[in-house]
Amino acid sequence: MPKTLGIDLGTTNSCMAVAEGSLSNVIPNREGGRTTPSVVAYKDNGEVLVGLPAKRQAIINPAETIYSVKRLMGRKFSEPEIDSLKYLLPYGLAADPQHGDVRVKLRGTLVSPPEVSAMILKKLKADAEHYLGGPIEKAIVTVPAYFNDSQRQATKDAGAIAGLDVVRIINEPTAASLASGLGGKQDMLIAVYDLGGGTFDVSLLELAKGIFEVKATSGNTYLGGDDFDMRILSWLIDEFKKNEGVDLHAEPKAMQRLKEASEAAKIELSSANSASIALPFIHMDKSLEASLTREQFEAMTKDLVDKTEDPCRKALEAARVQARDVDAIVLVGGMTRMPRVVAKVKEIFGKDPYVRANPDEVVAAGAALQGSIMGGEIAEVLLLDVTPLSLGLRTVGDGFKVLIERNTTIPIRRSETFTTTEDGQTFVRIGIFQGEQPKASQNHPLGEFELVGVKPQAAGKPRIEVTFEINADGLLRVTAKDKETGQKQAIVIKPSTGLDRDMVDRLAKEARAPGGSVASAPSGPPAS
Ligand code: AMP
Repeated sequence: MPKTLGIDLGTTNSCMAVAEGSLSNVIPNREGGRTTPSVVAYKDNGEVLVGLPAKRQAIINPAETIYSVKRLMGRKFSEPEIDSLKYLLPYGLAADPQHGDVRVKLRGTLVSPPEVSAMILKKLKADAEHYLGGPIEKAIVTVPAYFNDSQRQATKDAGAIAGLDVVRIINEPTAASLASGLGGKQDMLIAVYDLGGGTFDVSLLELAKGIFEVKATSGNTYLGGDDFDMRILSWLIDEFKKNEGVDLHAEPKAMQRLKEASEAAKIELSSANSASIALPFIHMDKSLEASLTREQFEAMTKDLVDKTEDPCRKALEAARVQARDVDAIVLVGGMTRMPRVVAKVKEIFGKDPYVRANPDEVVAAGAALQGSIMGGEIAEVLLLDVTPLSLGLRTVGDGFKVLIERNTTIPIRRSETFTTTEDGQTFVRIGIFQGEQPKASQNHPLGEFELVGVKPQAAGKPRIEVTFEINADGLLRVTAKDKETGQKQAIVIKPSTGLDRDMVDRLAKEARAPGGSVASAPSGPPAS
């Protein structure tokens, strides 16, 4: 039977696994690595490099080497988070002229984040097929628990463009808990603390009678290993300016080298007490040499480590439990190898975390196990997820009426009846939002549609039933019905990634066609 590939599509690194019953195996890529850098490089000759080869040439091609694309998935260019990223990333960002979604600028074209992610997925698929010696068509892809509907949809689109049928999107902490080996007979409360390259997630899962239920999730989509690297990078730039009077900010090649050296120093400081950094000829004939102690590094990143505490408290509050009620803490993400992070986890939960052998692989392993569950190979474990953010619609005066509250277990279906505000109204406009703010406009817009053909009556008379439905993938469908006439109208919310469905379908078809390869030129509308 063809295997379902479990994929952890990470901000910094991606990992893939397949399961045989309840045993999962990580699949190495063609370079022999168990994880693949989530880096895509577009070269002048039209070649596209993915993974380690892309990361390795980043120094000489910084403006066209795309990393951290997961941070851009399903986002609008106007979002404040994108504002700060614009200055940090060495490649260009722009707004899609039609939807305002963020796009990557590449030599006169605009490329969507799902298209870039698809390049990573295509490589993983091709490498897995090479390793396993057979075709892979289905995949289960994980996303941070905090991902909203647009981000989940963008991830599904990336899979489709890569020629993969994404049969399920699951939350990363849910996958980790599944693979953590805690799914035995004993009932318990598990906290999953996931500090990766770009995101921080914390989830509380209840395991009762062999069933996992996510009780609460919280996190920060802009906190991760990259931020730790940036602290070292900024420090190195300051030191160089102080000693040599040169500002390296404006030199992309130097910045790329500094970034790599910063990450290497950070990783070294997880096991050593000090790390030395040497970058010969960083600016003309000037070289950079520095030494950083673990103590210094911990001091310069204290606030970042501390920032993980608040989401943990929020998740505990949302689940209405105390830190001492947590029976086991699972660590996920490469950053949890930093000793200070482990100490912080202990401080928050009052006990030592349950340390898995490899926090980089546990999510992909869980995604693969989900494949076994769906294939009926593991019968006794069931996964239940929750909505990470509240979902509702705009009411009169920019009000926000929540239909499905955050942390509600999915799949879920909720209906509520609304009415009109003006006499003789024949249609209503329904704006769908996701978030926790009291005003609709302060939340994340998911879509808008008009229900036409409402029977004209006095204001407040019509009864319009709106139904929000989230399926097991965490994807939302909204329907509306005029209860007066009984007439039901089918309403389809436009895909929230702003990607043209035809384009996704066309790219998906191309990917499935024989000869579809990773080394294709970027496609997209011309840059404005
Ligand atoms: P992940 O998203 O799980 O692949 O995590 C990647 C992040 O973990 C990157 O920021 C890495 O630099 C970081 N990382 C990997 N190994 C270590 C280590 N030994 N100590 C500290 N950070 C690490």
